[in-house]
Amino acid sequence: MTKDGTQTVWLGPDVVRFAVLCEACLAECAPKEGRYATVLEGELPLARSREAATCPHGHTLEIVRVSATRRAA
Ligand SMILES: [Zn+2]
Ligand SMILES: [Zn+2]
Repeated sequence: MTKDGTQTVWLGPDVVRFAVLCEACLAECAPKEGRYATVLEGELPLARSREAATCPHGHTLEIVRVSATRRAA
């Protein structure tokens, strides 16, 4: 998590669908509400390299696809 609270989620070059735990929910909501942290599910089309996402509790996440350049070499 960065200083402003945005979490970065890294996806592999071929990964489209993702399901990640919201770390902010893990830290803030789970202890208070006694339940599991929010799982954020979504898709990042292969044509896109990054996208902003928001968990149901309003935390900001950035979905970033790692470059496939190295693998192609
Ligand atoms: Zn939450
Ligand atoms: Zn959250």
